[in-house]
Amino acid sequence: MITPVMPTYARYDVAFVKGEGAYLYAEDGRRYLDFGSGVAVTALGHAHPHLVAALTEQAGKVWHTSNLFHIPDQERLARRLTAASFADTAFFCNSGAEALEGAIKIARKYQSATGHPERFRMITFEGAFHGRTLATLAAGGQAKHLAGFGPKVDGFDQVTFGNLNETRAAIGPETAGILVEPILGEGGVYPAVADFLRGLRAAADEFGLLLIFDEVQTGMGRTGTLFAHQAADVAPDVMALAKGLGGGFPIGAILATEKAAIGMTPGTHGSTFGGNPLASAVANAVLDIVEGDGFLDHVREVAAYLRAGLEKLAASNPKIIKCVRGEGLLLGVECVVPNGDLVKRALDNGLVTIVAGGNVVRLLPPLIIEKHHVDEALEILARSCAELAN
Ligand SMILES: *Cc1c(COP(=O)(O)O)cnc(C)c1O
Repeated sequence: MITPVMPTYARYDVAFVKGEGAYLYAEDGRRYLDFGSGVAVTALGHAHPHLVAALTEQAGKVWHTSNLFHIPDQERLARRLTAASFADTAFFCNSGAEALEGAIKIARKYQSATGHPERFRMITFEGAFHGRTLATLAAGGQAKHLAGFGPKVDGFDQVTFGNLNETRAAIGPETAGILVEPILGEGGVYPAVADFLRGLRAAADEFGLLLIFDEVQTGMGRTGTLFAHQAADVAPDVMALAKGLGGGFPIGAILATEKAAIGMTPGTHGSTFGGNPLASAVANAVLDIVEGDGFLDHVREVAAYLRAGLEKLAASNPKIIKCVRGEGLLLGVECVVPNGDLVKRALDNGLVTIVAGGNVVRLLPPLIIEKHHVDEALEILARSCAELAN
């Protein structure tokens, strides 16, 4: 018999009922160290006092008014995000897939508004993940996600991640833009090299295309800079954000340059819930912390410590771990054993981690972790590896 919750997820048999900082507490009272952050969402850990205060304070004022009226906190959030990035303007939605859908629409609209209505196709990359709507499924191009969902939405041409020649060869008269994750997240934590991203920028400029970065997973400080592309010193025309943006409150955003958003006039796009007062209040509170003095320095420092520990763990467990890669606190441990075995073992030992493609275990701890949390995670991982080796 089907479960009341539609069974689209194979869930672990644990339910968390309370969280505090980097820790989660299950129904039976057991404590877990959270190195998954709800898939890179709870970037400031659980029940962060500043976020709790922002949410509860706003909850007593007004929750929702629709985008037919000005929303002061949404406007403030847009000013702050654009001031901190390449962008001139922001649109708010509720999820990553929605942000990507909107980004794809912006690229098509840009082309039609600038005399090229024939340009509607996006170049995307193998191993990408952009969400589960019909268009973002086609953008991600993963057979296992597309299977059974009817004709794939037209307009997406997939090439090898990291291959600039192949990308340039795929550009045709109908190409509108290039869409890429600076680090393939779900696809197995493969960082793009800076030269590749710069090459995409050059190709986009040469052929009049928009360059879109999907920073849904990598954004908001996860990789040690506010946005991952800032480390490569290359800017997109459009960027999709979600996951960490609301620290656990659902909110997504599309950031764009004025030029890219030229066609986005009243009536061209919309969202009932997008950027409502509650979501905007919390996202502003997240930014207060992430933009705070020394916060990103802390992320880089603790990330380097975790990375070094993982490299050591890999070196002493060659039968379990193949290699470690990633940036900042978006780290992937490629396994020799099935990745699910290590994730399950770690969970049984009190550490939450997340599987990714390419037989990878992803570590996405909250950005507020300290070295003692890293030590605790490494100890659990070492114990889990030892158990798997037996
Ligand atoms: C999670 C993710 C998405 C989809 O976000 P949803 O909020 O689940 O729709 C899109 N792109 C990337 C890179 C992601 O990691």
